Amino acid sequence: MTMETFPADRAGALARMAAFAPRMGRDYADGRNTDPGPGLRRDISRLSPALRHRLVTEAELVGTALAEHGAAASGKFVQEVFWRSYWKGFLELRPGLWDQYRRDLVQDRAVVANSPALREALARAEAGGTGIACFDAWAEELRESGWLHNHARMWFASIWIFTLGLPWTLGADFFLRHLLDGDAASNTLSWRWVAGMQTRGKHYVARAENIRTHTLGRFDPVGQLNESPLPLAAPPPPAPRPLPRPDTLPAAPIALLLHEDDLHPESLLRPTVPVAAIAGIAVPEARSPLGCATLVADHARAALRDGLDRAAQHFGVPATLLEPAGVAEWARDHGLPVVTPWSPVGWTATALDGLGVTLHRLRRDWDEACWPLATKGFFPFRENIPALIARLHPHVLPPPLAGEGRGGGRSP
Ligand SMILES: Cc1cc2nc3c(=O)[nH]c(=O)nc-3n(C[C@H](O)[C@H](O)[C@H](O)COP(=O)(O)OP(=O)(O)OC[C@H]3O[C@@H](n4cnc5c(N)ncnc54)[C@H](O)[C@@H]3O)c2cc1C
Repeated sequence: MTMETFPADRAGALARMAAFAPRMGRDYADGRNTDPGPGLRRDISRLSPALRHRLVTEAELVGTALAEHGAAASGKFVQEVFWRSYWKGFLELRPGLWDQYRRDLVQDRAVVANSPALREALARAEAGGTGIACFDAWAEELRESGWLHNHARMWFASIWIFTLGLPWTLGADFFLRHLLDGDAASNTLSWRWVAGMQTRGKHYVARAENIRTHTLGRFDPVGQLNESPLPLAAPPPPAPRPLPRPDTLPAAPIALLLHEDDLHPESLLRPTVPVAAIAGIAVPEARSPLGCATLVADHARAALRDGLDRAAQHFGVPATLLEPAGVAEWARDHGLPVVTPWSPVGWTATALDGLGVTLHRLRRDWDEACWPLATKGFFPFRENIPALIARLHPHVLPPPLAGEGRGGGRSP
């Protein structure tokens, strides 16, 4: 099988974004739901592993789409980028959903461990041995390449829950362990959405005909799927909390701590901010009690190294890759206030909380504008997109064609 590959550095991500820019308009709107298979996907960006680590930013993607196609033709692409910001805001306002998922995952794993039939069904699903050809191919593609097309993720999750009858938490965990773009908000909330727990009573049902049409006939699981399931029962999502306030930038020279959630420090801090020391940590294995695939860990650490190299060059100080246990000593040695990009709810935020270091967490204007609006469903959120773009101007700019220097949603 041809496998997709994904850049783990900003230069590669910018090149992919530039190559995809001409297709961010009508081509994307018309083609985004169809998955022609690995190596043939021209109508989607395949930038999620880069965006997830902010090797490129949401502002740069939206800015590029608007500059290239205008607001009307790029509307669908821009909206999908805002889905990411909506999910991040939704979880940031309801961190209990992540904690609940982690608790349910442990419980569901114990239930499966005690049932030989479920254990076998889980092993077959993860190994791609269910006999449902499309599902098995996606399981293999996920394990081999660390990525799946959005529509394939929807079909896969639906078949996992409603046809195979496996706990949704274990499917979400399988995705997290293998996705290069694995993200606490997009992954957990999309699985909840497919199951019918996110928008109550509305679940996503994978249908053979839809799969046949949108895989261009590569798959046709007719007669193999449960096409009339009930949504999973669940309480409504909790009410949103107020968004926790970010810190302000200390006046003195600072030490900068990077992590895998935000690796474009050039646009987080103005070049005049005196950065006297730089370090970075990555804890991709903490995304699941079972750790993560080597491909995923390697990708996250390569992205971090790229962020550190660029930061060293941009701020003119050496940058070090640290283990979390070494951060307190590094901070003590430098004796400076430690500044870090805001880490949204998830495993990196948990790791930062456990460092034993006082952190000054800075939030980008992009997140500051989007997240508080994720109080209800996506459709009311979507109404805000034109106002958000106007508010975030001039941050919403494409990056320069050569070299660096602008774009990215600069914060303090
Ligand atoms: C069950 C399930 C689990 C998912 N888990 C993740 C995850 O862990 N991490 C993740 O980044 N995305 C996740 N997604 C969302 C989506 O599938 C991927 O972001 C998308 O497939 C990435 O492909 P692309 O870069 O070609 O996207 P494009 O279609 O080119 O879109 C551009 C960017 O917009 C964002 N985006 C597009 N669609 C969505 C969406 N539906 N939800 C959120 N953001 C979106 C992505 O950052 C993407 O890179 C999940 C979706 C489902 C249904």
